[in-house]
Amino acid sequence: GIRRKDCNVLVVGLDNSGKSTVLNHFKSPDCKDSNVVPTIGFSVEKFKYKNVHFTAWDMSGQGRYRNLWEHYYSDCQGVIYVVDSADKLRLAVAKDELDILLKHPEIKSRSLPILVLANKMDLRDALSPVKIVQGLGLDQDLVKDKPWQIAATNALTGDGLAAGADWLSDQIQ
Ligand code: GDP
Repeated sequence: GIRRKDCNVLVVGLDNSGKSTVLNHFKSPDCKDSNVVPTIGFSVEKFKYKNVHFTAWDMSGQGRYRNLWEHYYSDCQGVIYVVDSADKLRLAVAKDELDILLKHPEIKSRSLPILVLANKMDLRDALSPVKIVQGLGLDQDLVKDKPWQIAATNALTGDGLAAGADWLSDQIQ
């Protein structure tokens, strides 16, 4: 959709959830990475697509940099939270990180749309979106005042991404 003004969207989640692969879909062909390299240490990826400024980073193993990334919370209009649906062992960690994000004053106080990508849906042992909703506690208190949506995606092919992005841009407008 066409938005009237620029907006900032955060793309966060644990390492290996598929953030870089998702972002590559929104990049213009000339700046697409042919190879997605896992992020090490604290690094923030930023780029602009149409009038959306994307800012992305890994939450895992970077807790000590939390105060650096919190700085991005105040001026974002939407959050994309990427989850590896096949990573059952770390679903609880993904929930903890999401809770910490949702409890942050800058996030908690606003009715910010949260798009959860239940990514890697193509993998045989991927949990269903319903299970991801339960595992992340999206049916609970912290998100009850926020518009949120879950989209089953395969970031390798792009399946499901457009529907999720459309929902988010409608919410932000
Ligand atoms: P990041 O650490 O969150 O940026 O994750 P990456 O984008 O680097 O992806 C981690 C690994 O998962 C890479 O090997 C990707 O090719 C792979 N991957 C990402 N999305 C999917 C998906 O939807 N399905 C499958 N099967 N693999 C994926």
